[in-house]
Order: sequence, then C-alpha cells, then structure tokens
Amino acid sequence: MTKEDNQSMMEKIVSLCKRRGFVYPSSEIYGGMSAIYDYGHYGTLLKNNIRDAWWKEMVQKRMDVVGLDSAIFMHPKTWVASGHVGGFNDPQVDCKKCKSRYRADHLLEGFKVVIDDKTPIEEINKNLEKLREEKKLKCPNCGSTDLTEAKVFSLMVKSNIGSPTDELSEENVVYLRPETCGGIYLEYKNTLDSLHPKLPFGIAQVGKAFRNEIVARQFVFRTREFEQMEMQYFLKSEMMKEKYEMWKEIRFQWYLEYGISENNLQWHKHEKLAHYASEAFDIEFNFKTLGGFREVEGLHTRGDWDLSQHSKFSGADLSYFDQEKNERLIPHIMETSVGLGRLFLMFLDNAYTEEEVNGELRSVLKIDKRLAPIKIAILPLSKKEELTVPAKEIWEKLKENFMVEYDETQSIGKRYRRQDEIGTPYCVTVDFETLNDQAVTVRDRDTMTQERIAISELSKYFEEKLR
Ligand code: ATP
Repeated sequence: MTKEDNQSMMEKIVSLCKRRGFVYPSSEIYGGMSAIYDYGHYGTLLKNNIRDAWWKEMVQKRMDVVGLDSAIFMHPKTWVASGHVGGFNDPQVDCKKCKSRYRADHLLEGFKVVIDDKTPIEEINKNLEKLREEKKLKCPNCGSTDLTEAKVFSLMVKSNIGSPTDELSEENVVYLRPETCGGIYLEYKNTLDSLHPKLPFGIAQVGKAFRNEIVARQFVFRTREFEQMEMQYFLKSEMMKEKYEMWKEIRFQWYLEYGISENNLQWHKHEKLAHYASEAFDIEFNFKTLGGFREVEGLHTRGDWDLSQHSKFSGADLSYFDQEKNERLIPHIMETSVGLGRLFLMFLDNAYTEEEVNGELRSVLKIDKRLAPIKIAILPLSKKEELTVPAKEIWEKLKENFMVEYDETQSIGKRYRRQDEIGTPYCVTVDFETLNDQAVTVRDRDTMTQERIAISELSKYFEEKLR
C-alpha cells in the first residue's frame, strides 16, 4: 500500500465511524478538541465487547487473577514514587513550516538511534543536530528541514481537588492517572489482606488514563483520554521466566482467536530497558490506516521496583509472607498493558473490507461475531402492519439474549448495506411469505447467502451461530 492508500483507508474508517455512529470528535459544536473522542451507540457497543473479551480471557477464565476498579485520582505521592512526576516527559520537535509536531524518539528511530526516558535532552539534541548537519533530518509530513530543537514536555495531566478558596495551591494538586497500574499497586495490600491470593497471582483492571500526548493525529490510536486494560502479575523472582513466556503466549493467542491473522502481528523487543526491567516486548499490529506495524500491547517485566518504591514512599509494609520458605519477600511484577481505543482501531482496520457485488461497491465490517456491536437486525420487507407486528414480536423474543436491532426505514438494499457497514453478522427479513410459512430469511453478512428458518427455531439457531 502507498502512503496515499493508507491515508485514504484512515479517511474511510474515520468517515464510517462518524457517519454510522461509532466515534465522534469530542465537543464538535465548539470546534472540537484535539485527540479526544466520544463513542456513539455502535462504538460503545463494540468497545464494551472488546473490553469484555479481554476481561473474559484475563479474569473469568483464570483462577489466579482477580479484578479491580480503582479511582482515577490517587494520592499525589503515588506519581512521585513511580517516577512519573519529573520523569514522564516526551521530548518533542516541531516543524516550523507545516507546524507538525513529532516525538524526538520517533524521529530518531528512523535513523536507528534509540533513546529512552532516561536519555538527557542534551544528548537527544546532539543526535538531532548531527542529522541536521548531514541534511538527513526532514519533516516526515512536508519534507522541510526547518525543525526546532527537542523540548521536554510533561505528559501528566494536572488537576486540583479540595476547597475552592485554596484552589491551585500546590498541596491540592492531583494528577489524572497516566496509567491504570498505579491503582493496582496501591490496592495490592488490600487485595492480599481481603482475598488472600497466593503467589503467583494477578490483579486486572480496565479504566481511563490521561496523557498530554504531543503527537495526536492518529484517530483513536493515540488520544489524550483513553482506556487501558492492564494486568499486573505478582510472583517470586524465580518464576519470572516461565510466567513471562506463559503470558506472552496467552496474549498472542488472544489476537488470533479474535480474527487477527498471524501475518499481521509481530513481537517487538525493546532494546533499551528501564533499569528495573529484565525484558520488554510489545505486540505490534500491521495497521493499514497507519501504514505499518504499531504497538498495541506491552508485556513488561518490572522486577520488585513498583512495590519497593511504594513501600518506601508510603512507609507501608508491602511484603508477602512465603509460607513454604517461612520468609517475607517483595513480589516481582510482570505486566500486560493494552489500550482499548487502540484495539478498537485495530479491529476496525482488520475488519474493513470493500467488495464488488453485482457491479456495486459493498463495504462491510468482517468483524468477529462476538465483537460485533449488533448481532441480528430484524428487517420487515414493508412498513405494513401485517409485517411490522410479527417482526417486532421476533425482536421482543430475541432481545433477551442478543443485541438486536429493528429497522423498517428505507429500501431493503439500503438496510443491508447499513448493517454490513456496522458489521451485523445476521439480518432477518420478514416478508409476505412469513405470514404463510411462519419462517423468515436469514442473511449471512460475510457470504451473503440466505436461509429460510422457522420463527420457532430462531433462538436456537442464533445461539449456535453466535456462540
Ligand atoms: P506509545 O509508545 O505508543 O506511546 P507507550 O509505550 O507509551 O505507547 P505504555 O505506556 O506501555 O505505552 O502503555 C501501554 C499501552 O497503553 C500501549 O501499548 C497502548 O496500547 C496504550 N496507550 C498508551 N498511550 C495511549 C494513548 N495515548 N492512547 C491510546 N492508547 C494508549
């Protein structure tokens, strides 16, 4: 695919999302806000289904993982202990000509220069300067060589709570969490004391996180307010190797199970690691909309750093009593961390298909049936009561177990096209023949084949098909 094809693919998906009620730019009537989005009816359904599929794998199907829903606001010291305050910065470079903004690490990556969050800004600028002198550094958007120096930019979103009179006083400053795992570390002790899990065990949670992202023109791939799904797995250090491999396998398989092909997935090994980590791998998906492989999920080993830091800063004893060895230890941690919005874009990118059918273009979301926002659409062939009444009765019957939509507007062809575009696996057409044979036509989204099914058999039929 050329760069133009990628852009056009992104435009198609962004347009479908808005036109069909998946994703809207936030605050649009006030001119919008950069990198913040709202999810409409179908978007919310799809997002919730992805979240539930993750939760099912990570919590429901596991004896060794429990759930959590911690608050967004946390004690400000949390982020000092974790190194985010004062450390969670992305150096940025601006193009003076087209005003595009880039992360310095992304620009340097193209020249095989690897930097991380510990690399001093002076060193980053030295690298950039060298490339500038060699006339190699160009704006990826407009090709201009007129780029600024790298400047440090905090990703933490600040707020304040407390009495309005002392608003903005330093003591009241709180941060909107930049990642959800902070809440897991802080609730590790309560989880131990209340649920008594034995090592190894995990705590999983899904929730909002906030980052003042500087490069934010990639639709829901990178947003300033987003949802993360994270699982922190607590273990003894000697278990790390085996369990890390186990989770890498589980997470990779999850993508395959939900219809992502192996060819479009790859592992990316981090070359430069945080000082406490021994290994870090990302799962990358080959986005058509973004023109190549991009990170969707990270699996990181974190040593005993997080619990040691929180223990040091809070004064709380965060050790675990190992009954076998009769000793106390600080558990090590392995995390899996993935953005829900990123998976949302990945599934749309993967599912969006254009086909020619009878000389016409059909766009269809060939998404896993379990993730599809609407499972079944009930479409009476005409608006006459003799058809709408039995059609609504079918809707009444199916709604208990499935997300079903009823639609009697426009021609049947247009209704099929709409359902194809939102990824509905089955359309049920109620026609005049239904009045005689008490049966309906069921159309399959992917093959477009039609089957005649007795109304009395429908629930059973869909239970099997949508399992
Ligand atoms: P990137 O390098 O792409 O900014 P990251 O390495 O900073 O990502 P982590 O801090 O490891 O990301 O976060 C874990 C996961 O959270 C990422 O793999 C991604 O899926 C998701 N994520 C991080 N930042 C964002 C964001 N701004 N918008 C949407 N999802 C995000």
